Amino acid sequence: MSMFCYQCEEAAGGRGCTVRGVCGKTDDVAAMQDLLIYLLKGIAVYGDKARSLGVVDSEVDAFVIEGLFATITNADFDRERLATLARRALELRDRLAGQFHSAYQRAHGHPFAESLPEMATWVPADDSEDALLLQGRVVGILADLEMDEDARSLRELLIYGLKGMAAYLYHAHVLGYRKDELFGFVHEALAMTAQDAPDADALVGMALRCGEMGVQTMALLDEANTTSFGTPEPTQVNLGVKPGPAILISGHDLRDLKELLEQTKGKGVNVYTHG
Ligand code: SF4
Repeated sequence: MSMFCYQCEEAAGGRGCTVRGVCGKTDDVAAMQDLLIYLLKGIAVYGDKARSLGVVDSEVDAFVIEGLFATITNADFDRERLATLARRALELRDRLAGQFHSAYQRAHGHPFAESLPEMATWVPADDSEDALLLQGRVVGILADLEMDEDARSLRELLIYGLKGMAAYLYHAHVLGYRKDELFGFVHEALAMTAQDAPDADALVGMALRCGEMGVQTMALLDEANTTSFGTPEPTQVNLGVKPGPAILISGHDLRDLKELLEQTKGKGVNVYTHG
């Protein structure tokens, strides 16, 4: 199946990118990102159930937001790194599955026997990029053509909300700030997108909650940034360019920016930002 991505306002023709992204994303990278989202949904199926039994794996939580963040527009076009993330997703999914099954057995006195969605149990033929891509090409947005169109759109809307939330959660996380409720919500909402036929009304409700959680995430990031770097204030900055080697950055990973400035200090490398 050829790529289909309509996650941002740059989408070709206002409808979707199908051959190559307007952003530069290739068909292979799109498939690897689709696979990663698919596997993150599989993790969330266990993450949501495990939490209800008191099982929390903070490494898994951090990985899920890192993985979601890696798929937002222009964040990561490195197919090899995405394949590495997909392999790690498989490892962590299976680790969490083991924790969940043990906790369920302890809590209920018998094994968990309900059926699970495919992404919670799928395993590749081998861990080569080719085997991963093969699956990535059949699990994208258009994989469920028989699904109700509104529900499918709402499902993607929710995933995009979670991706945005994850980017900010990740920035806060690397500064040492986390709030368990927000990670729990990511698992709960992603697990809903793993359902075969999620209810449209339920998806609307979850998307609205995602908005509320997004506001809480921004408050957490604000706290992380202002505590780590101080409160922003109007400041005179240099505009224009200087001769010499340069690094141009975009985004708002303030810790990365700080480290970059420290590493380039006194080396004659100019760092340019857009804001
Ligand atoms: S993220 Fe890239 S491929 Fe996807 S819609 Fe935007 S421009 Fe197109």
